[in-house]
Amino acid sequence: MSRYTGPNCRLCRREGAKLFLKGERCTLEKCAFERRSYGPGQHGQGMRRKQSEYSVQLRAKQKLARIYGVREGQFRKYYRESTRVPGVSGDNLLRLLESRLDSIVYRLGLAPSRKAARQLVRHNHFTVNGRRVNIPSYLTSPGDVVAVVEASRKLEIIHESLRRSRELVPWLSVDKANLTGTVVERCNREDIPTPAEEQLVIEFYSRV
Ligand code: SF4
Repeated sequence: MSRYTGPNCRLCRREGAKLFLKGERCTLEKCAFERRSYGPGQHGQGMRRKQSEYSVQLRAKQKLARIYGVREGQFRKYYRESTRVPGVSGDNLLRLLESRLDSIVYRLGLAPSRKAARQLVRHNHFTVNGRRVNIPSYLTSPGDVVAVVEASRKLEIIHESLRRSRELVPWLSVDKANLTGTVVERCNREDIPTPAEEQLVIEFYSRV
């Protein structure tokens, strides 16, 4: 599956939920989902047919993949890994997604959205434990320190995002003055503020 390049707001309307893909705009009245909370396209306002079990699971999977901006192949790998390691597979899946470097950068408030975080990571603006990392899917571990590289410390997008930053999740700590953040511990499902139905995602992959 290639990466979706159409309008982000259309994805929220398609999934029937706010996926928070556009940073600050998502919290304002301008949010397209606030104004038109029905599906996109010609039949978006039509009566919704009863969804099959498969369709409900598929939508849960698509929604989660879209929130984290992960493509199908990668998402399937995360599923396999989440069922291989001990623990609840759904929790493991979310934990993997949250461990991605782009997600950590977003959660630290160093980027306004995961999409922006992904781009900043790709453009070499961050280090992990002192080494440059430009792979958005890089998986962080407890104890890892993420920092903005010296040459990028004046980037307005980072400072603007920090000024507007969201509530910090409990498994991270941030040092805004030094533009660094630390992964303090493994995240717990109850602390992850993502509107996900991860068990449906696991069920989706276990049947295909
Ligand atoms: Fe979704 Fe609203 Fe953000 Fe658009 S502005 S991406 S509809 S939450």
